[in-house]
Amino acid sequence: MGQIGAIEKISQYYQNQRFGDNMTFIVGDNCIRCKHTDCVEVCPVDCFYEGPNFLVIHPDECIDCALCEPECPVDAIYAEDELPEDQQGFLALNAELAEAWPNITEKKDALPDAEQWTDKKQKLQLLER
Ligand code: SF4
Ligand code: SF4
Repeated sequence: MGQIGAIEKISQYYQNQRFGDNMTFIVGDNCIRCKHTDCVEVCPVDCFYEGPNFLVIHPDECIDCALCEPECPVDAIYAEDELPEDQQGFLALNAELAEAWPNITEKKDALPDAEQWTDKKQKLQLLER
């Protein structure tokens, strides 16, 4: 690594120390048509947003606390660096839809047929906007 590269790395390290590492958590495919909303109750910064049949996390608001991940009964929430290869598009999708959808801060009933959709794969085409 050249001198400039090393300086950039060190600079990035101190920025992360000072401002916090801006990694986010992401809602992935398995939430679609499920929407149990257990996750929203534990989020300390209320950064979940709700669409007709899916929830998303605002990546600029998430403080990377990891509280929501174990609450999801269908394991639909991932840390950014653990997002499966086939769900990489959900990072941009969470960011886009969090700007468009309303904030949700309280748990509500899951969709009536949620159980039927648990663990069904590749549900992206069923996402309603
Ligand atoms: S608990 Fe899981 S499935 Fe339910 S809304 Fe949250 S992310 Fe979606
Ligand atoms: S990781 Fe923490 S801040 Fe981010 S969405 Fe989950 S509960 Fe909210």
